[in-house]
Amino acid sequence: MARILIVEDEEKIARFVELELKHEGYEVGKALDGRTGLDMAMAEDFDLILLDIMLPQLNGLEVLRRLRQSKQTPVIMLTARDAVMDKVAGLDTGADDYITKPFAIEELLARIRVALKKRGSGSVSSSDVLEIREVRLDRDRHEVTVKGNIVELTNREFELIRVLMENKNIVLDREKLLNEVCGYDYVGETNIIDVYVRYIRTKIDDKFGVKLITTVRGVGYSIKE
Ligand code: CA
Repeated sequence: MARILIVEDEEKIARFVELELKHEGYEVGKALDGRTGLDMAMAEDFDLILLDIMLPQLNGLEVLRRLRQSKQTPVIMLTARDAVMDKVAGLDTGADDYITKPFAIEELLARIRVALKKRGSGSVSSSDVLEIREVRLDRDRHEVTVKGNIVELTNREFELIRVLMENKNIVLDREKLLNEVCGYDYVGETNIIDVYVRYIRTKIDDKFGVKLITTVRGVGYSIKE
């Protein structure tokens, strides 16, 4: 059964949601502040996180921002009634959905089912894993391992490796990589890609003695089989 983390400082709401979810058969973790919530979300593999925005220690948006640097666990934000900006900011930061408080438990349960279904509820099919030499990229877990060691990557570093691995043996130019990694509406210099490649080389090539990304002078980059 899916595991759900509730990060909510209003104890009555947290307790109520916890009981309802357990009643539905979910495994439930609970945190009453942002710091604890982030620690739990990073340390354990939850299938979904219910994240309040107004939280002590670290607010929900900050928790989400930090989580998204290394994990793609689906997140449903719990927002106050009129907090439109919170909803926009939450979705921009990588939330999957939001629900406005106070909410009917049936609506929350329905949204949880949708979010879990969309992400395949953690079911890993072999096609979610790309492997080249000793580097293994798991799209479902949003995780790169080298020789069995998990590498801490930012979202953009991960995306850059993913695009190159999906197009293995093909040289991709900086423009194409920039669009894939930063989005088509990104305004900035294409040499940002060079910066990410440098970070990746520090984290992977230097540390594990593998040569992952090849520079093709005057053209771009490639990951070769
Ligand atoms: Ca709150």
